[in-house]
This record gives sequence, structure tokens and C-alpha cells, in this order.
Amino acid sequence: MLKVRTTAEKWRFVVAITGGAVLASILLTWIMQGGELITQSLQPSILVPLLIAPPVTLWSANRMLEIHRLNQQLEHLLAHDQMTNLLSRSHFMRRLDEMSSDFKGSVLMLDIDFFKQVNDTYGHLVGDEVIRRVAEVIETHVRQDGLAARYGGEEFVVCLPQKDLDEAMGRAEQIRRAVENQTVSVSGQDLRCTISIGLGYADGEKPLVEVLRKADEALYLAKNQGRNRVGTPHQTPQSAA
Ligand code: GH3
Ligand code: MG
Ligand code: MG
Repeated sequence: MLKVRTTAEKWRFVVAITGGAVLASILLTWIMQGGELITQSLQPSILVPLLIAPPVTLWSANRMLEIHRLNQQLEHLLAHDQMTNLLSRSHFMRRLDEMSSDFKGSVLMLDIDFFKQVNDTYGHLVGDEVIRRVAEVIETHVRQDGLAARYGGEEFVVCLPQKDLDEAMGRAEQIRRAVENQTVSVSGQDLRCTISIGLGYADGEKPLVEVLRKADEALYLAKNQGRNRVGTPHQTPQSAA
């Protein structure tokens, strides 16, 4: 089956269909003339498809390319959160499922601290901007080797395949500090925010929902211990530097 996903494939499609049309026309002429090809009838049998096929196939190929690009846009829209451009929660969960049950690696649950106060003080539009800026920091720190999604509201989730808890702790601290040091300018004022993070580790045996639950528990612990810190499963959260 000929697919049209790129400009190169579009031209290959035009050439292949035009070539096929010319060959089919010659074959038909040959059959209709009882197994003979006369020069007088050979010329139109080549020229007619050569004139008609290229514009028609080019038009079709352009439509196919357009449909392919629209499909890609649709897939991107379905897989991403519109506000932050991080993965959507449902797509993230599907990707985790696809990584199979013997997946090993770390999971981070991240939540902006006292975010309701940001909304109450500066309004929802500023709140939205803060969510976008925190999402950017998270994405910058995991795009090389992990997946990041907006879990909902002002909560995010990150998956770091093959990273143990120590490595995940290092990364979580980097993200926490980067958010803490970032400023968002609002009407000439510099607004800062912090996040709390909970870690979970998938050892290849525990179900992933269980790992997410552990990370959520660790996040809850980090919140209770004062926020702006990283909590690990079964451990006291590390204090902010
Ligand atoms: P904590 O430190 O315990 O996490 O406190 P918090 O205030 O961050 O948490 P809480 O759950 O009380 O409030 C979260 C707020 O986030 C409430 C909700 O209105 C707001 N929120 C959720 N989604 C959005 C959004 O897309 N945009 C904006 N601006 N606010 C949102
Ligand atoms: Mg919060
Ligand atoms: Mg929350």
C-alpha cells in the first residue's frame, strides 16, 4: 500500500501511479488490438494517461498528505495537555502501561505549594502562568530521559525509566531548586513559588498504580513536613537546603 506521509512520498506516489496508468493503458491497447501494438495507437495510449494521471494523482497525494498532517495534529492534541504542552494524564498512564509490568524506574509526583493563595492573590490568569512556568522547568529537566505529564490542576507526574531512588532524588532536588529560584513577573512584581515532590520506585514487580500511590504518600509527607522538599517512600523528607 502506497502511503503519503512526506513530500518525497507524495512524488513517489505520483510517479508510481502515473507509470502504472501508462502501463495499464498500453496493455489495454495491446489486448484490444488482438495482441499487436501499432505505432499510431501506441502514441495516444501513452500520451492520454501521461496527461491525465499526473494532475489527478498530485491532487490526491496532496489531500492524503494533508489528512496525514491533520491526523498527526489530532494525535498530538489528544496526547498533550493544552495549557502546558506536557503529556496528558491519560496518555502518560497509557505509556506507563505500554512499558509493561516489569518496568523499573522512578516516579515523581509534584505539586505546587499553597497554589490556592496564588489564585486568590493574583487571579486565575496569573495562576495559569505559574502552572505553565513550573511545567516548563519540569519538562526541561526530564525531556532527555523521562516522561512528564500534567496530572491535574497544579499537580504533575514524572517517570524516569532505569533511574533508582538516589538518582531520582538528585533530579527531584534539581527541579525543586529550579522552581524555587524562578520568578514570574506580575505587574512589576516578582512572584515566586515552590513545589513539593514525592518519590516512588518501580522494582519490576509492584504494579505501577501501587508505585504512584507510594509517590503520592511521599508527596503528602513532604507537604506535612513543611513543603518545598522531596519526600521518599518510607523515609523522612529531606529538608530544603
Ligand atoms: P498545597 O500546598 O497543600 O498543595 O496547597 P494548594 O493551595 O496548592 O492546594 P489546594 O488543593 O488547596 O488548591 C489547589 C488550587 O489549584 C485549587 C484550584 O482552584 C487551583 N487550580 C486547579 N487547576 C487550575 C488551573 O488550571 N488554573 C488555575 N489558575 N488554578 C487551578
Ligand atoms: Mg498544591
Ligand atoms: Mg494539589
